Amino acid sequence: MRLKIPEQPAEALRVIYAQLRAAVAAPKCHTCGCLQQTVEALAGTDVGQQQIATVLDEARAVFQPKHYDCLGCPVCYPAIAANAFSNAFPEAGAGLNLCPTDEPAERTGWPPLPGNYHVLKYRAPVAVCALNSDSLASGLKDLAPAGLAMVGTLHTENLGIERLIKNTLANPHIRFLIVCGEDTRQAIGHLPGQSLHSLFAYGVDERRRIRGARGKRPVLKNVTLEEIHAFVDQVTLVAMLGETREEVISMQVETCRRHDPGPYQGAPTETGVNIVQAVEPERLTLDPAGYVVIYPDGTRRCLVVEHYTNAGVLNYVLEGTSPAALSTTLIERQLLTRLDHAAYIGRELTRAEQALLTGTAYIQDAAPSPNTSPPSAHCGCGPDCLEVIP
Ligand code: SF4
Repeated sequence: MRLKIPEQPAEALRVIYAQLRAAVAAPKCHTCGCLQQTVEALAGTDVGQQQIATVLDEARAVFQPKHYDCLGCPVCYPAIAANAFSNAFPEAGAGLNLCPTDEPAERTGWPPLPGNYHVLKYRAPVAVCALNSDSLASGLKDLAPAGLAMVGTLHTENLGIERLIKNTLANPHIRFLIVCGEDTRQAIGHLPGQSLHSLFAYGVDERRRIRGARGKRPVLKNVTLEEIHAFVDQVTLVAMLGETREEVISMQVETCRRHDPGPYQGAPTETGVNIVQAVEPERLTLDPAGYVVIYPDGTRRCLVVEHYTNAGVLNYVLEGTSPAALSTTLIERQLLTRLDHAAYIGRELTRAEQALLTGTAYIQDAAPSPNTSPPSAHCGCGPDCLEVIP
């Protein structure tokens, strides 16, 4: 059942008193950030210092050291009181800091804000918001359809939507937002799905309150109007509220991917991702641990790695059936110590495995080095090969 929020001050004051006294009578609220934050926020208003000062003092008297930001109760007494206050005293209520959780600091890279989501691919056009359905988000992450950039849940219509806006604006490749799963179902609860729909349909007012949103506190105070407008412009909302079938949503991701209009050009902030053009290696620095000779052994159906010291002395012969096993063993035994050498060995082991599987010939590639002749001048066993064909 949804409670009617009073709009007349007298009725609102009665509700505020009743709800805060209910919180005072409930021990679970005494250690909850939700009550403490609401009381302190209301205390900073004129009404808080006059008409409701008594009940705020009563609430303060039961405060205990905070154990949790918000217990997430289906009916939250301070939230009802705060809603009544904001409705009856809109001027004072608009700027109140009622949320007990702090806005996390942005980090460099993408996504800039942490949250309950899975990141799959930066250059993909679809973000999926599974609302309150955690298992749906996990299932889509495992399915990993090609167009999926990220999938996560959304539990609140203020901080949650703000994070969604900032993380989306930081990736211009995201052009679709699929909203699916179950919206939060609470008598006086958050309704992020309904709020998202309202945001796209009606926008926000001058206080950045989402028009038509019915959730607890649909005010986007940590994003600018410019960011909100850019977000709505960047992504197309695909409404699948209530849909929880992974395969149906996965097919929708594929449909969106086929209609990808390309990266968005109008983001108001720079993305923190560095795009770097890779260049071919020009030189190889010798690994102090030594060098390797790699070959597939077709008779024994395995890969072989001979490891030599830089003085040309064989000290290990490793055998294995996969590049993963051999590279892991090389690292564990500290037979390679340089990243470029590790990358080279990984490439060569993969080529050798392919030759083993297909029965084709394998010749170990030589990596470039200023101190050796071009690869074709070597016998072909590797970048560290000492035998040069005259
Ligand atoms: S969420 Fe609300 S009702 Fe639940 S413990 Fe916290 S203040 Fe009390």
